[in-house]
Amino acid sequence: MRASFKYRLYPTKPQSQFLEGELREACSLYNAAKQERDDAWKTCHKSINYYDQANQLKAMRADGCLTLANFSCCQDVLRRVDKTYKAFYARVKRGDKPGFPRYRSARRYDSITFPSYGDGCRLLDTGKLRVQGAGHIKVKLHRPVEGEIKTVTIKRQAGRWFVCFSVERDTSPLPVSDRATGIDVGLNSFAVLADGTEIQNPRHYRKAEARFRCSQRKVARRKNKRSNRRRKAVRLLQRAHAHVGNQRRDFQHKESRKLVNRYGLIAVEDLNVKGLAGGMLAKSVHDAGWAAFLNMISYKAEDAGRDYRKVDARGTSQECLCGARVPKTLADRWHFCPACGLSASRDHVSAQLILKRAWIGPSSANVEVVVSCVA
Ligand SMILES: [Zn+2]
Repeated sequence: MRASFKYRLYPTKPQSQFLEGELREACSLYNAAKQERDDAWKTCHKSINYYDQANQLKAMRADGCLTLANFSCCQDVLRRVDKTYKAFYARVKRGDKPGFPRYRSARRYDSITFPSYGDGCRLLDTGKLRVQGAGHIKVKLHRPVEGEIKTVTIKRQAGRWFVCFSVERDTSPLPVSDRATGIDVGLNSFAVLADGTEIQNPRHYRKAEARFRCSQRKVARRKNKRSNRRRKAVRLLQRAHAHVGNQRRDFQHKESRKLVNRYGLIAVEDLNVKGLAGGMLAKSVHDAGWAAFLNMISYKAEDAGRDYRKVDARGTSQECLCGARVPKTLADRWHFCPACGLSASRDHVSAQLILKRAWIGPSSANVEVVVSCVA
């Protein structure tokens, strides 16, 4: 399966200046490619594809108007343009809001990819990264790279440099487990399992809000958009956001790892995060980052050979394990069923229902379920 390993890079000053230059160059190639497509369409209704554009690269480099050090990198930039246009056409076809591809700002164009390992970029035995044109860059290899490296991406994030290796590696199955659980994600606690265990919500974003406000004001006070002082203030704000992102990711990785290690079957609800995130609770929904969390469980489960099932969760908060309807509003946190007398917290019952549906499908109203290994 495909996996990605990310490491911090420590380029020297000339090296980081070189990398900045590469990003600028890649960005202008991106914008030029976009413009060519738009012009061709506007003037003669001709649509240009990746190959039309890639065929021009050689001549452009010979003319000296394209100074990106590695040829495959240029192709990758054109592939990115191709991808955005393909996604755009697909959205038009589906009848979604199309969202025409945009020009990219050089300040936000933050990565270049070497699509085949060894061509322009290689990890040396000395533990340094050899990058064409930049020389040997220091890497903090905090853990070994597992598997065979396929592509390398160099990234700039909040003024820091990182390298991501995309690798192809074997799955590492865990010993079989007959334990099963359902997961209900909620706002009060981050998630509740079918056995009633709660995973507390750390709310990193809410905790850091004071710091964001402070650094956001700092940026707003710097009126001159191009000043060094503003650039530095923006850097601070980016760092603050990156920090919260790291905290959240760290938490999610640890929790999803625990679940995958413990359970052989993990049932989750098929979430409509986009719908939820539009509402009043948007900040909390994004802060919890359920989509990313469920994604982590899904790929860790696949890697470990676990059974991961998404179920339709409609009505799980309004139904009892016995099949009776127990209507609740959002404010009702407790579930009490007059039909069978089950009394438990609302999220706990939902988690059990999700597990039940994973076992026997959604139309489960009158089916007797053994919940003994759940409780
Ligand atoms: Zn009941």
